[in-house]
Amino acid sequence: MPNRRAFVRAVAAGLLLTAMPLAARAQDKLPVVASFSILGDFVREVGGDRVSVTTLVGANGDAHVYSPTPADAKAMAAAKLIVVNGLKFEGWMTRLIKSSGARASIATATAGISPLKGDDDHGKAGHGHDHDVDPHAWQSVSNAKVYVGNIRDALVKADPAGKDSYEAHAARYLAQLDAVDGEIRAAIAHIPADRRKAITSHDAFGYFVKAYGIAFIAPQGVSTEAEASAKDVARIIRQVKAEKVPAVFLENVTNPRLVEQIARESGAKVGGRIYSDALSDAAGPAGTYIQMMKHNISEIEKALAAGPA
Ligand SMILES: [Zn+2]
Repeated sequence: MPNRRAFVRAVAAGLLLTAMPLAARAQDKLPVVASFSILGDFVREVGGDRVSVTTLVGANGDAHVYSPTPADAKAMAAAKLIVVNGLKFEGWMTRLIKSSGARASIATATAGISPLKGDDDHGKAGHGHDHDVDPHAWQSVSNAKVYVGNIRDALVKADPAGKDSYEAHAARYLAQLDAVDGEIRAAIAHIPADRRKAITSHDAFGYFVKAYGIAFIAPQGVSTEAEASAKDVARIIRQVKAEKVPAVFLENVTNPRLVEQIARESGAKVGGRIYSDALSDAAGPAGTYIQMMKHNISEIEKALAAGPA
């Protein structure tokens, strides 16, 4: 009798399993770790139902200065694929890979992108880190398309059975990115040429500047590790006044104090909060990369397009 009951249970369980679509079962999904929220979103877009994504540096988190947790190490050890930005963005990653015993393949999302040089002049005194490249390549949508292509290829390699699915998801998402790129260019065209300049706290928009022709000046360099010096801040205040920079923007990952001070002392207006190095949580205005880029350009256009009221 116990055998028969066990048999019935096993058959029932088997029916249950086959009744569920294969990809819907958590244990069958490809475990992927993404180092920060923007990569996590790309992996979800391309991976769809077939992947289960763990993001290490979450919403509004600063990946420049992150301390990994024991849970991160566990996720790394279980991962089949680890996706990183590269360009020295996640300086803590090398040690985490080693200490977690991770054996997953590692995909560098920026592979193939020509990096911009990091402006390492700001606040350099006293810190020994090397920020000679600018890691914020995702801020240009054409670079984001390179990220997505690299992630698609890495997923196909890690899970060849999902090739058709990954390719279809990626193609659809790449078309959406093209549309966003067009929206950004149209918005920039609405801003008078002499008002295409603004202040942010750290130098996270170099690729945006290069792609879309708008100048961002920042008291902090391409990493948030080094504080801006009083001299840098004074220089920027002079520059804002001399060049009549219309607005300063707060960033989601940095302390607002510095740009608020610059606004106060220069007379530039505070143009809202833009998302540089991390998404907002799902309920916020920048829960996905596409929402983030749309939110940022909408704030930028609002603050810069119109003259003083
Ligand atoms: Zn940054």
